Amino acid sequence: MAGTVQLTYSADRSLATITLGDQTERAITLTPARLRSFVEALKTVKDSGVKGLVIQSPSIDSFCVGADISLIQGVTDVSHGSALATEGQSAFNLLEDLPCTTVAAIGGPCVGGGCELVLACDYRIATDSLATSIGLPETKLGILPGFGGTYRLPRLIGLPKALDVILGGKTLRAQQALKARLVDEIVTADALVGRAEAIARGEHKPKRRSRGLVDKLLTNNPLGRAIVTRRAKKAVLKQTKGFYPAPPRALTVTANGLGRSRASALKIEADELGKLITSPESKALVHIFFLTEASKAIGKASRKEIERAHALVVGAGTMGAGIAGTLARNGHQVIVKDTSLPSLQRGKTHTTKELSKLRYLSSFERAVIGNRIDWIQFTSPTIARTDIAIEAVFEDMGLKKKIFSDLASRVGRECILATNTSSLSVTEMAAAITGPERFVGMHFFNPVEKMPLVEIIRGEKTSDETVSKVAALASEMGKFPIVVRDVPGFLINRILIPYLNEAVYLLQEGHSVKDIDAAALEFGMPMGPIRLLDEVGLDVAAHVSEVMVSGYGERMAVPDFARRLLTVDRKGKKNNAGFYTYKGKESAPWEGLRTVLDLPSTPKTPLTRKEIACRLMYHLVNEAMKCLHENVAGTDRELAKKQIDLGTVMGIGFPPHKGGVLYFAEKTGLDAISEKLREFHAVYGSRYAPFPQ
Ligand code: NAD
Repeated sequence: MAGTVQLTYSADRSLATITLGDQTERAITLTPARLRSFVEALKTVKDSGVKGLVIQSPSIDSFCVGADISLIQGVTDVSHGSALATEGQSAFNLLEDLPCTTVAAIGGPCVGGGCELVLACDYRIATDSLATSIGLPETKLGILPGFGGTYRLPRLIGLPKALDVILGGKTLRAQQALKARLVDEIVTADALVGRAEAIARGEHKPKRRSRGLVDKLLTNNPLGRAIVTRRAKKAVLKQTKGFYPAPPRALTVTANGLGRSRASALKIEADELGKLITSPESKALVHIFFLTEASKAIGKASRKEIERAHALVVGAGTMGAGIAGTLARNGHQVIVKDTSLPSLQRGKTHTTKELSKLRYLSSFERAVIGNRIDWIQFTSPTIARTDIAIEAVFEDMGLKKKIFSDLASRVGRECILATNTSSLSVTEMAAAITGPERFVGMHFFNPVEKMPLVEIIRGEKTSDETVSKVAALASEMGKFPIVVRDVPGFLINRILIPYLNEAVYLLQEGHSVKDIDAAALEFGMPMGPIRLLDEVGLDVAAHVSEVMVSGYGERMAVPDFARRLLTVDRKGKKNNAGFYTYKGKESAPWEGLRTVLDLPSTPKTPLTRKEIACRLMYHLVNEAMKCLHENVAGTDRELAKKQIDLGTVMGIGFPPHKGGVLYFAEKTGLDAISEKLREFHAVYGSRYAPFPQ
């Protein structure tokens, strides 16, 4: 029955098997009902006299994805949270205490509560599939593993590695899990159940590698633990900058749990889970989890169609090479065409280097992926099978139109044509081809391998089918798609530009580079706006600014002095000279900024960093509200809000613990923000014109 577990026995009744759900369930979650049925099954097994128990999933591709996250979202009471943890802990204690040999047969994701379940087994056998992953991502949701994970993992794999997994919210691939001793053996999918049953019967048990002396000292000895804890504390603080309470609490609970009895350690774990699950940070992170789910759902209907699509990438530069490499990693055949041989060479070197970073792949697997890409100089007129062509040449409307009109006449009518333009009109480009319904914007961010967002730009004539297919492709590439209208700057740059401009206005008023960037960092942004301008390049920013001013008028204008930086050859990080001066890995605000550009050295009205942050962040809110009002992220208001929140977190770096810009605005109070914007409007003029109510 769906939602419960099934208990079966071998013909000779020496072996029991618990299957965590039935075939109709796509992903097994540990709901309270399933946990209760699991406990009933364990009680029966306990009294049955079997030699062994195998725990498996109905699917070889998905073992168990842990607790039902909507349940986490609904917990607002600390004692309710702790009680949920205690319930899971009791179930897994029962499993751990069974008198027979217990073996988990793992295929596909085994994460969160699923991982905590297998930790309570005597043995863990996993398939060699790339889809198999084991780990504890709870801290990414602002909580800690609350079903005994903080207690059992360090005892199994040692404190240093356990902290690495728990504090980083990591999941390990099968090979990594084997190396870490988190699983005992890796087998093929066909052999999984047979091998698990043999072990449960006591035949050829896997040999467990010893943990090593240093690891034992760092785990079992209080002094060793103190060293590991001190080091981890430093790393956590550096990573979380004090914004996320879960990793430091998980650190204390995990390290202290080692010196305690099971009952005492689990009680502390449950208490802490209760506190964290009700924290605003966890609520915001869970909100983001659901945004990512909504994003994955966009192209769901076209997933099958896009599988193994053959792609053509035109342009082997920064973006083209990244797009080609990411496509190949996800199983696609790719042809990359460029007019320049050096570009093709650089592109190929780039993808090889990126592939070498994927340590979980064998050198053979890397070679297979690399061989999926053909790098071709753009001379041959023939085009092999192409299901989607993605263009990533220079940002030049004439050039792009020419490329697409040529392509459209050579590829099949059903081939999707996508541009990676960051600022040009998709609708205008589509006008250059026959069949504009198959034309779409697919805006990847730089660096493609790392940036999780893809803005899908729907031109005036783009069909729903095309949008659905490219969304499916983006999801398959491991990205989160959002679908937006074809307006200048699309969604992300439109929201970002007023914020960046405001940083330049603040400079013009006499505030320092240091204070402006620090104000954003203290709010939780990953990088200050001035530094971000340097990263983007001041020439590129000037070009985007022109597009924005022509689309929205003076309210999007950047102060004139910013352009003067280009006349003194300060382009940003690319030539080591922007608002900052760069020397190797060091950088410092440019000393000549105020004198060379004739700016005041102190502000007339001093502002605290909080006030500076308010000036910056309320621009993000204001423009996001305007986008919502103008249906830039679609006419379905709830979906649009989700897309804007996801886009601001993944595309702009808005702090995840604040849940996205609109979530933040709602929690802060839209009326209060609107009031403040009106004040700013009166003082600073049109750029602060508040969003319509
Ligand atoms: P790039 O300069 O690194 O690469 C452009 C490539 O296009 C070069 O290799 C060039 O040789 C090739 N090219 C030029 N004309 C060609 C033609 N006729 N046929 C085939 N190849 C040709 O540029 P990039 O940074 O990769 O940007 C490409 C596109 O992506 C632009 O539209 C840009 O706006 C957009 N984009 C860039 C970024 C970014 O941060 N770099 C981010 C998002 C989107």
